[in-house]
Amino acid sequence: MKRILLSVPHMGGAEEGFVREAFASNWLSTVGPNIDAFEQEFTAKIGRPSVALASGTAALHLGLRLLGVGPGDEVVAPTLTFVASVNPIGYLGAKAVFVDSEASSWNLDPQLLSDFLAQRAARATLPKAVVVVHLYGQTADMDSIADVCARYEVPILEDAAEALGATYKGRQAGALAGVSAFSFNGNKIITTTGGGMLASSDRALVDRVRYWSTQAREPVLEYHHVEVGYNYRMSNVIAGIGRGQLQVLDARVAARRRVAYRYRDAFADLEALELMPQAPWGLHTNWLSVFTVGRQARVSRNELIRALDQAGVEARPVWKPMHLQPLFATAECVRGDVAAGVYEQGICLPSSSSMTDEEQQKVIDVVRTTMGTSR
Ligand SMILES: *Cc1c(COP(=O)(O)O)cnc(C)c1O
Repeated sequence: MKRILLSVPHMGGAEEGFVREAFASNWLSTVGPNIDAFEQEFTAKIGRPSVALASGTAALHLGLRLLGVGPGDEVVAPTLTFVASVNPIGYLGAKAVFVDSEASSWNLDPQLLSDFLAQRAARATLPKAVVVVHLYGQTADMDSIADVCARYEVPILEDAAEALGATYKGRQAGALAGVSAFSFNGNKIITTTGGGMLASSDRALVDRVRYWSTQAREPVLEYHHVEVGYNYRMSNVIAGIGRGQLQVLDARVAARRRVAYRYRDAFADLEALELMPQAPWGLHTNWLSVFTVGRQARVSRNELIRALDQAGVEARPVWKPMHLQPLFATAECVRGDVAAGVYEQGICLPSSSSMTDEEQQKVIDVVRTTMGTSR
């Protein structure tokens, strides 16, 4: 049996046709019908004007710029996330301040955020923006977070890179704050091999990002420039992959959820192994199947990862919190013990939507044998 990987691309079938059209019509640049259609189809899915970009990181970068973040500003972000959520803060010369997770969703803790903003408001040094991440396909408690941010008039940038297809109280992830970012990296729930999208309720903001993403070229004949721009636009070729992938998004969400719940049921008798919390407020895509290995277990999380590796199965730890990274050694963090605990115990199991029952059974068997409870 070939190696079972964590999260692999899963094409739907229509992608190659759209890519072939791009070749046939010679639209082999960052303009063309696939880009226009991909943006329209994405907009139809999440209900907001959208602009296709080269990566999710680019979307976060330009999203922060839209919110006015600049040199010397502070930006709040959850400590438990992938580094791409916070690298763009540094690109703009701003400083990240981290906040711990709540145990019930592993996402940004609204109470800690509230305490922090109250304390900063008293000193008249409010942060310029708050980045909210929907971790592993589960939305953060957006109503509580939005209430807190509205009280202090601090805007939110939604990092929905891991949560396309998730919902919060019936609303789509990525349509819960003024500006949001998505990723189509190769390991995400749908992929363009690499790419991203920025969406906003305000079409003017989306148009501004489209302008910045193409070197901020003014709409005149001469090469005339007023603002700093970037080469961040998506290619028309890979936008074709995105169009095909969007057609199967709902099926991919259902498959990822099925994988996670099959693990949960298979490990139901193992007290030391627990699926990450499933908050009651929405649909969790379970982009990755994440479990915690309890302290009572016979093996540590790292021992379990090693045993799986030796059996030809790729598993990974949960994201290492930002406040534990040398890159952010001097950054402030509000608490951090929940994130640190999740990091110490958390394991991501193979979660691909294309995984066969036999492949998943193999993962289950290796986990059960390693935990000392094979039956
Ligand atoms: C993948 C990811 C990103 C970055 O997306 P890229 O398309 O890889 O640049 C940002 N934030 C989170 C939480 C991610 O998981």
